[in-house]
Amino acid sequence: MKKLVAETKSKFLKKYETEPVWIVAVPGRVNLIGEHTDYNDGFVFPMAIERYTVIAAAPNNAADADVYSVNKEESVTIKLDGSATPPQTVVWSSYIQGVVQNAVEAGFHPMSFRAIINSSVPLEGGLSSSASLEVATATLIEAITGQKFDPVQKALLCQKAEHLFAKMPCGIMDQFISAMGREGYAMLLDCRSRVPKMIPFDDLDIAVLIINSNVKHQLTGSEYPDRRRQCEKAAQLLGVPMLRDATLRQLEEVQSVFNKEPDGNICFRRARHIITENDRTVDMADEIIHKNWKTCGKLMYESHVSMRDDFEITCAEIDILVEIARSTDGVIGSRMTGGGFGGCTVSLVKSSKAANISKVISKQYKTKTGIEPTFFATRPAQGALILGDESLGK
Ligand code: ADP
Ligand code: MG
Repeated sequence: MKKLVAETKSKFLKKYETEPVWIVAVPGRVNLIGEHTDYNDGFVFPMAIERYTVIAAAPNNAADADVYSVNKEESVTIKLDGSATPPQTVVWSSYIQGVVQNAVEAGFHPMSFRAIINSSVPLEGGLSSSASLEVATATLIEAITGQKFDPVQKALLCQKAEHLFAKMPCGIMDQFISAMGREGYAMLLDCRSRVPKMIPFDDLDIAVLIINSNVKHQLTGSEYPDRRRQCEKAAQLLGVPMLRDATLRQLEEVQSVFNKEPDGNICFRRARHIITENDRTVDMADEIIHKNWKTCGKLMYESHVSMRDDFEITCAEIDILVEIARSTDGVIGSRMTGGGFGGCTVSLVKSSKAANISKVISKQYKTKTGIEPTFFATRPAQGALILGDESLGK
């Protein structure tokens, strides 16, 4: 992070010919396990990664804020007077404007500022550059005003910005972990109670390897709503409010009820994924605490198979990545992470072998698919930070 901060500072100095007064750094995230469980009121298990969105800022002599993104190589103007409305067309500044607007409505009134945004979280790479940008904006507002949000309020305010201003109906995971992540911890998040539980994950012998398949399949757009509907229907057939409330045994007992429905087989398998994935997610948190790495690995492979066969959200390239990982020395477990149909895998690996593992997987993946993957190893990182105020996010 130090290098990114230094680079951002010097870009700020060059552009505005003055030193920044406020600097914030907010990480992206990876979900270790618990896919599509969020909208079933279940559990997710993310951790913050060592990739950050950094914002450097200083007061500005104007009514609005002037914000430049190094990643987008573009400047935008952000309204600070509370008059912003959701955009017709979403652009990158919509994420920032949404957070500022919600913060103003919550009684935070930042003075005018100019800022530079510089992110090492790949944009649109499934590692939540969007939430890290939102939370970085909210954190900058804290730095400027000297007021602090309640951390849950802060995450929800950012989520609302993504819903309203970026028109993306996301869950709560990304904003929670970016805002409240802790170095050396993963977060078991109950999407029903919205209570995060920090789980120590600080064994230096174990690293998390994120590999981007660099494929993102064009979909019809109905995959996500279809699955939501199938999950809702399965809950109905089971007679529970949400799939979170059902057990595998209950599901098996009512299989005949599912069989009577035209899409019963699909709904049954969707439900089986959600129910077992929820169990795996809670189990994984417990196994990490006890450093039972082998069991953690097994849970990750099982999660992948469940996403592949029951929830049907993987794709050939991602399946290949997981299969290569499975046969690579030093890999403990591997699975797809994120919404599906491409994107990244997440693997638990022995730290000492991480570099070699990356090389081996990369080479084999390229041979089999013709595609060059990108990868990096990380340990659980710190959430939102105001530099010089290390208490935030802890
Ligand atoms: P992800 O969150 O997986 O990276 P999203 O599509 O949800 O992908 O969010 C990515 C979008 O967020 C970008 O297309 C851009 O509009 C905005 N964004 C994120 N980080 C930055 C940044 N550093 N500069 C400008 N825009 C950014
Ligand atoms: Mg996003």
